[in-house]
Amino acid sequence: MSAAPTAKRTVIVAGGGIGGMAAAIGLSRAGCKVTVLERAAEFGEIGAGIQLGPNVFHALKTLGVAERTLENAVYIDKLIMMDGMTGDKVAEIPVDAPFREHFRNPYAVIHRADLHAPLHAVNVADPDVTLLPRHEVTGFVKRAGRVEVHTANGASFTGDALVGCDGVRSKVREAIVGDGDPKVSGHIAYRAVLPIEEMPEDLRWNAACLWAGPKCHMVHYPLRGWKLFNIVATFHHPSRTTEGHNEPGDRDELLSYFVHLPAKPRSILEKSRNWRRWVLVDREPVGNWSDGNVTLLGDAAHPTLQYFAQGACMAIEDAVTLMHEVTASPDDLGGAFRRYQDRRITRTARIVLSSRELGRLYHAAGVERLVRNEILGGKTPADFYRSLDWIYGYGRDAAGP
Ligand SMILES: Cc1cc2nc3c(=O)[nH]c(=O)nc-3n(C[C@H](O)[C@H](O)[C@H](O)COP(=O)(O)OP(=O)(O)OC[C@H]3O[C@@H](n4cnc5c(N)ncnc54)[C@H](O)[C@@H]3O)c2cc1C
Repeated sequence: MSAAPTAKRTVIVAGGGIGGMAAAIGLSRAGCKVTVLERAAEFGEIGAGIQLGPNVFHALKTLGVAERTLENAVYIDKLIMMDGMTGDKVAEIPVDAPFREHFRNPYAVIHRADLHAPLHAVNVADPDVTLLPRHEVTGFVKRAGRVEVHTANGASFTGDALVGCDGVRSKVREAIVGDGDPKVSGHIAYRAVLPIEEMPEDLRWNAACLWAGPKCHMVHYPLRGWKLFNIVATFHHPSRTTEGHNEPGDRDELLSYFVHLPAKPRSILEKSRNWRRWVLVDREPVGNWSDGNVTLLGDAAHPTLQYFAQGACMAIEDAVTLMHEVTASPDDLGGAFRRYQDRRITRTARIVLSSRELGRLYHAAGVERLVRNEILGGKTPADFYRSLDWIYGYGRDAAGP
């Protein structure tokens, strides 16, 4: 064990999303003073839902926010895949009591604001954390073992280290990985929330339900004490080569990709309003995302397509690993960052690469669709638990990630 440091280390966190908030809690618990620089005028999250696998609750427990998060979550009973052509059920993964026992935590769905808020509240109450909105990081300079971070409003901040949690178009990544723009996938996602009264009654399932393909899929699940349903509809648009992030959606464009969907699930898309549109991107996994006392976390380090519903879960797991490594060597933040990334690279890269494959399965057409249905339809819950163990079982047998 290293000796206790003489003074608290100061760490600057770029970005105050889910990853940045979790990182700030972890770094403060590891004995650092933390300043979070966020570009937006307020700390918060977009008005959509998010799925949380059991693996993330081990991490949220370690950060002390699992209980508050679960208070606002809906515990679903199943993950269901429906065939988007015939309306038949393809497969079902129960995530009820035996699943919770197996993975020692629930599978839950939650409004993003209800995930971000408890993390934010811990930081607001922590005298060692300073939260600064309206501070867009534009770059940094390393000087005499420290890092000077610059923001668009002309301010600068000097710390012992910098953690880039500034998302898929990270400024910090630009300087230490330098791999240019993210990779446009050719997939576009539309998001909306629908009041429960407008959801067809016989589709108000306590499940994350996915209507699959061809070349598209739609997901729905209940949110916020069953007052809302979260709707995400994704389709191939290979000619769309420019990024787009949280733009206003075009309902007619969306509907034109789901003409084959049976009338009832299609009515969900017809009724939803206020669509927002994302052109989905990821990046090739890299074998290094740190440079001495500067590192990356969450989407800045390993952005992924959303098909395993694990991007935010990975960011929160990252934060706990970072906390453990900084606790182990608070006087050697560069060493801690190196060990942190080495512990996270394979797992997060596997999520990125596997998500691409899963997207192909969701969007299968023609004979590939028939093969998919036969393979998934023949699996038992035990088969699914085994094949998902690498994701959901993580942290189950230890104190956390
Ligand atoms: C359609 C869709 C569905 C998804 N569903 C799920 C799901 O069900 N489960 C799941 O776990 N994940 C899901 N994800 C992934 C998840 O949303 C992300 O992985 C997660 O939000 C990443 O968090 P982050 O904090 O790393 O990055 P971000 O959420 O991108 O946060 C980055 C923060 O940094 C700020 N910022 C950016 N640039 C700067 C700058 N230069 N200076 C200062 N601040 C800056 C931003 O304003 C933002 O607050 C989904 C993603 C999509 C697109």
